[in-house]
Amino acid sequence: MTDPLTRMPDGTIKQVNPFTGTKVWTIPGRGARPLVTRRRDPQPLDPAEHDRHCAFCWGRMLETTPEIARVVPTATGWEQVRGLPADDLGTSRPEFRLIPNLYEILSYDYWRRAHGWRGAPDTSARLTSYVSTPLGREHIGDIVRTKLLARGVPADRVAERSYEDHLADAIEFFAPNHEVIVARRHFVDGATDDSQLAGSGTLSVAEHREFVAFTISALRGLYEDNEFARYVSAFQNWGDRAGASFDHLHKQLVAIDELGVQIEREAARAEQEPDLYERWGATYAAEQGLVIASTPGAVAFAGVGHQYPSIEIHAGDPWSLPWELDEAQVHDFADLLHACHAATGVEVPSNEEWHHRPPSLALPMPLRAVIKWRVSTLAGFEGGTKIYVTTLDPWALRDRVVRRLRDLVEAGAVSASVQVAD
Ligand SMILES: [Zn+2]
Repeated sequence: MTDPLTRMPDGTIKQVNPFTGTKVWTIPGRGARPLVTRRRDPQPLDPAEHDRHCAFCWGRMLETTPEIARVVPTATGWEQVRGLPADDLGTSRPEFRLIPNLYEILSYDYWRRAHGWRGAPDTSARLTSYVSTPLGREHIGDIVRTKLLARGVPADRVAERSYEDHLADAIEFFAPNHEVIVARRHFVDGATDDSQLAGSGTLSVAEHREFVAFTISALRGLYEDNEFARYVSAFQNWGDRAGASFDHLHKQLVAIDELGVQIEREAARAEQEPDLYERWGATYAAEQGLVIASTPGAVAFAGVGHQYPSIEIHAGDPWSLPWELDEAQVHDFADLLHACHAATGVEVPSNEEWHHRPPSLALPMPLRAVIKWRVSTLAGFEGGTKIYVTTLDPWALRDRVVRRLRDLVEAGAVSASVQVAD
């Protein structure tokens, strides 16, 4: 295998991702540019708009698809409530909501036609129950109309449709394969201007643990409900430059009927090299001085060979599926992910991509997340050569995150379990 990191005589760093083979060059001198250029001055928040800033805000719950589940904080921990009727959405204040994505990647129709799949056995019963109240009926009609209009169906054609037509389309919201987990806050508590967004790193440690646990539970649910789902992709887009439609914290889960190019390649290698992730993950990072921090059950390091400067967080247990990790392991993974987001800051657009072992493969593949800083724009050079140019080499990224993390640890803003590397 090619050495993942090569330093050229002039200081250019050539990187090859040990898992994907992606080639990246860091050119000396380009890293001096500021990471993020502020787009505009912060605008004061209108108190009348509280909880109504976007369609993901709690004051606008009827603008999202019918809720699958929510997590509510209680005196003794977290309670998951499933399948609330439209009339009851306001009866508790959830910390996180799980909803079907209105604009899914693979539709209900795709799964039905390609695989004969019609959802979990209680799909129709849940739809029938949801529309048994006037508010439920109205909600379903509104959501189907919104979707048709957004797809470009002319307004007069939408108006001609009967409620039964809408109802037939609504089945997809009760058999989703693309889900969204939305966090409660749009802005941090006490925010006065619109730059004070609530991101993964501004959640409390306990909230972020629940965010991760709820994501794992939804991941499992998608595999369980759809036997044709071979992989479930989980990710978080933060900032419009990273593909997010709203500046409101959310994760997405998408079931697909293939493993995906990346997992197929990695599986072929993991079969030959069972310690693949350990060898080219934590061990290699330690050899190269790229480790950022660790918790007892996870390690974070500056990734090598990513299109954008990236932090990788690997859970230590290579064999467990995400939902087979015990509570302490989930906390260790979640706390480190939280700390890396806090060190990144909400002003940096990012993608958080999860990777895990597909249940159909008996191979050692630990749960891991990659936080990609979307601080550069791909251009013609990248398109023509498939060699990506970044402005921050892995060591510079590592130093930047470590410095910030030390302050956060000192301030008690991240979990006490996080040990920052020397
Ligand atoms: Zn919002």
